[in-house]
Amino acid sequence: MQPTDHDEATGTRHRESHERAEPPITERTGQFWTSGADGVLRLLHCRSCGRYQHPPRPVCPSCRGRDLGWEDLSGRGTVWSWTVNRYQWQPGMEPPYLIAEVELVEQEGLRLLTNIVDCELDAVRIGLPVEVCFVRSGAAHIPVFRPVSP
Ligand SMILES: [Zn+2]
Repeated sequence: MQPTDHDEATGTRHRESHERAEPPITERTGQFWTSGADGVLRLLHCRSCGRYQHPPRPVCPSCRGRDLGWEDLSGRGTVWSWTVNRYQWQPGMEPPYLIAEVELVEQEGLRLLTNIVDCELDAVRIGLPVEVCFVRSGAAHIPVFRPVSP
């Protein structure tokens, strides 16, 4: 296990020690996986009704609008649910580690399935304030979250 390095380009701290598989980068998901290169989380946003959506789809699930664009988010959220994974599902992903759904502050119900990093297993709780950071894997910058420093 090699801890990943501090990323000078984005100023984000990568104290995550897993070797992650690169997610499939498609026309629809590419912007999501690569936008973290500059340290900013971006999601698809509907210009008709103002709702964010995730995962990205060509049509807004709220208003059926098609005028969608990628918008910056604050990267802040709270833990909505979580579990400790104790099985090695992928080579290089050493258990135990935290899997969580994080609800983003921008919109009720807007959640990412992700990992909580830089956090003791017994320190996580529902409602814990977290912020995004990114883990590099190939061309992807995978958004994960860490507790907000007090
Ligand atoms: Zn819409």
